[in-house]
Amino acid sequence: MNTANAANLSNTEKWQGMDGHHFHPFTNPNDLMQKPPRIIESAQGVYLTDSDGNELLDMMAGLWCVNMGYGQKKLIEAASAQISQLPYYNAFFKTSTPPAAELSSLLAEVTPAHMHHAFFTSSGSEANDTVLRLVWRYWDLMGKPEKRVVISRKNAYHGSTIAASSLGGMDEMHAQGGVIPDIVHVDQPNWFAKRCELGTDLDREEFGRQAAQSIADKIEELGVDKVAAFIAEPIQGAGGVIVPPDSYWPEVKKICDHYGILLVADEVICGFGRTGEWFGSNLYDLKPDLMPIAKGLSSGYLPIGGVMVADHIMDVLINKGGEFNHGYTYSGHPVCAAVAIANLRLMISENIVEKVRETTAPYLQKRFRELGEHPLVGEARGVGMFGALELVKDKDNYIKFDSKAGVGTICRDFCLDNNLVMRAVGDAMIISPPLIIEQADIDVYIERAWKCLDLTQKAIA
Ligand SMILES: *Cc1c(COP(=O)(O)O)cnc(C)c1O
Repeated sequence: MNTANAANLSNTEKWQGMDGHHFHPFTNPNDLMQKPPRIIESAQGVYLTDSDGNELLDMMAGLWCVNMGYGQKKLIEAASAQISQLPYYNAFFKTSTPPAAELSSLLAEVTPAHMHHAFFTSSGSEANDTVLRLVWRYWDLMGKPEKRVVISRKNAYHGSTIAASSLGGMDEMHAQGGVIPDIVHVDQPNWFAKRCELGTDLDREEFGRQAAQSIADKIEELGVDKVAAFIAEPIQGAGGVIVPPDSYWPEVKKICDHYGILLVADEVICGFGRTGEWFGSNLYDLKPDLMPIAKGLSSGYLPIGGVMVADHIMDVLINKGGEFNHGYTYSGHPVCAAVAIANLRLMISENIVEKVRETTAPYLQKRFRELGEHPLVGEARGVGMFGALELVKDKDNYIKFDSKAGVGTICRDFCLDNNLVMRAVGDAMIISPPLIIEQADIDVYIERAWKCLDLTQKAIA
C-alpha cells in the first residue's frame, strides 16, 4: 500500500491495502488485484457488519459452521476462562487436560449410541486424513492389509489436504495435485442433474437405488478383498446440497453390510443439528464405523474437529493395535475444546436441535419452496437448515444455463449488494443458515432472495 497517503484513506481502504499481502484460499489472486475483498468487521446473531457499516444476513453461517450464531456470551467466556487457566497442553505421551477429557465424554453422549471415542483434530480436513489412516490401520490389524481402496463420490467435499481432497470428488481440486492411490469415485445421487442430463423426468426412488447400485458395481469390479471403506456426507454440502432420494441410504447401508466394508459418514456439515437431528447419521440411521466432525462442533468460534470411532473398531485398536502413530500438536487443544463444550451445552440447554426440527426448519423449508415458484428456479430443495435453488434456463424442460454464463455468480453478487449472503455452487444457490435463525429473519431472507432472483433474471434477459 502507499503509506504516504494512508492518512487520507478510509478504514476499509486501509484494510484492503494491507490485505494485498493476504493469499486467499479458493480465490483467484488476480481477481482480488482487480477488486479488493469486502471486509467483515463484526457480527451478532445472524447478521454480519462490514467495514462500510452494511448489515448482511448470513444465510451461510460463515462457512457452514456458525450454528449457534455470532456473539454467544457462553462461548466467549469459556474461551477467555480457559486461555487464562491453561492456554495449551498436548494429549501425547499419556497426558490430558480437563477440557479434552470433558469434551470426549460429552461427544460420547450426543453422538450415535455405538460410538464412545473421539480422536481430536483442528479441522475437518485433518479429520479425514485421520480417517484414511484409521481405515488402513484397521484392516492391517484385521489381517487384511490388501483391503486399501476407499470408494467416495464425485463432487464430494472432504477437505483440502492432499488426502482429504483425494477422498473428495472435486475435479478442479484433482486437477491441481491429482488423487493419491487407492481412492476411487462413483456417481453422486444427484437427481436434478440427472434429469437435466436426460432432458426428461425420472423416477426419484428408482434413480436413488441405481446410484447406490454403482457402489456395489464398483466393489465387484475391484474385488471385495481390495475394498476397505465407503465414505460419504449424509447430504452432500459443498457439492450443492444434494439431498439423496429416500431409497438411497437404506440401499447403501445394505451394500456396505453385505460386502463387509466400513462406512464413513462425513458429518462435518450435517453434524450438530443442521438436518434437524443431532447427526445426519441419526436422520438416515447409518450407524457409521467412523464419523469425522468439525465446523458446528465449536460453531466455528475456534478451530476444532475430530473423528468419532465405533466401539467395534476401537476394540480392535485397543486389543491388537499398539501405538497409533498419528496425531497433531493441537489435538484436543484445551481452549478449542472448552469452546466446543460450551457450544454443545448451549445447544442442549436451548433445545436447539428440537427447535430446528419442530419449528424453524419446517418454516424455512415451507417458505424456501415458495422460491421454487420463481421462473428462474428449476428446483428448490432442502432438509433442516439446508437448502439449494437450481437456477435454470427452462424449468419445464430441465434445461440448464451454459455454465460459462456464470448465472449463479451473477445472482450471488446481487445478493451481496442487497445485504444477503447466499453462496453459488455453479448455478445452484445454497443456504445453510445459523440454527438459531428466527422466523422473522427467514421472512427477511425470502424477500431479499426473491428480489435478487428478479434482478438476476433482468440482468441476463
Ligand atoms: C468443510 C468440510 C470438510 C473440511 O473441513 P475443514 O475444517 O475446512 O478442513 C470436510 N468435510 C466436509 C463435509 C466439509 O464440508
